[in-house]
Amino acid sequence: MTHHKQVPPQERSGAPLLEVDRLTVTFRKHSLLGGTRVVRAVNQVSLAIAPGETLGLVGESGSGKSTTGRAILRLVPIDSGTVQIQGRDIASIRGRELRATRSQMQMVFQDPYSSLDPSSTIGASIGEPLRVHRSMGRGEIRARVEELLTLVGLRPSHADRYPYEFSGGQRQRVVIARALALDPQLIVCDEAVSALDVSTQNQVINLLEDIREKLSLSYLFIAHDLAVVRHISHRVAVMYLGHIVESGPTNRLYSSPAHPYTEALLSAIPVPDPRKRNQARRVVLQGGIPDPSNPPSGCPFHTRCPYVMDICKQSMPEMTAVDGGGEVACHLQTSGPTLAGRGLNELAPASPHAMPDEREPRNETPAPLG
Ligand code: ADP
Ligand code: MG
Repeated sequence: MTHHKQVPPQERSGAPLLEVDRLTVTFRKHSLLGGTRVVRAVNQVSLAIAPGETLGLVGESGSGKSTTGRAILRLVPIDSGTVQIQGRDIASIRGRELRATRSQMQMVFQDPYSSLDPSSTIGASIGEPLRVHRSMGRGEIRARVEELLTLVGLRPSHADRYPYEFSGGQRQRVVIARALALDPQLIVCDEAVSALDVSTQNQVINLLEDIREKLSLSYLFIAHDLAVVRHISHRVAVMYLGHIVESGPTNRLYSSPAHPYTEALLSAIPVPDPRKRNQARRVVLQGGIPDPSNPPSGCPFHTRCPYVMDICKQSMPEMTAVDGGGEVACHLQTSGPTLAGRGLNELAPASPHAMPDEREPRNETPAPLG
């Protein structure tokens, strides 16, 4: 796998492409018994993506990743907060400007079968946004479709084939080609490679990297798999129960996670080298994700945190800067007995649930991911 990510683009250019400020999205679920349950799927989320940058967004299933991506594309209503693309607030634009802004942002989903019409040739599928949004003739559309197929590593003649004639990885390339048709600046990839086997994942990730460099695209790359996100992201943000609990440059976040949740997610990644396996601390999360319609008081992670302190049950930690880059919302940073300049690795866990791993192989994952 290639690594082109060493120079974070946000340090080269000033204004972000995308800026999300205290975004909140709430779902109301009406139960048969007449009650209403309110789920704050996205809670005060702030993030920014520079032109040409990839931000990874990770967290267990239900943490609010997809809702964040969908709210950015205005596919779900926003409760509060702002989403700005190139300085324009997407909530306040209408009509033609909204359509133009929307075409700057595209989404690629996990399952290319459900996002491709099985009865249309892939040429027709890729050309559809061009027919709808651009006044282009048939010949022009065909030429553009062939160009897009080449860009994603397929052959121009593939335009006449149907989705069932392609492998899963090829279908995902088709979906990427269609997402690129209108020259977007941002693509939200929501578990875009999660359904593929590892070697196909790597190929598609390398393709996404090459396309990003060629077209100066930005990605919000959503995945539950931290191993996948690492190779494509300049920075990573970690979500838990609707909150971003930690963010930072990929290298810092993976080498010294500042949030116990990040540490736990990282320790669930299989370590291929058996000699290194024993040195890695394994943090097993206690219990499951709390009911999102009835989240815990204080820090949302306190019910599962191996380092929990009294203050964690009482107040929500503020985001604070982390040495080496990024931010974390954790009382250990500010009120902990410990962390003056040290990493979590040097901190003795408060509970027996976080212990250096004596056993192998790792055959249990701390929590369902996805
Ligand atoms: P993730 O992508 O991280 O798995 P989601 O954004 O899909 O998380 O979901 C976050 C929370 O919002 C979950 O509790 C989920 O059940 C809830 N949710 C998501 N979409 C809807 C919806 N359309 N209606 C009601 N609740 C929803
Ligand atoms: Mg999701």
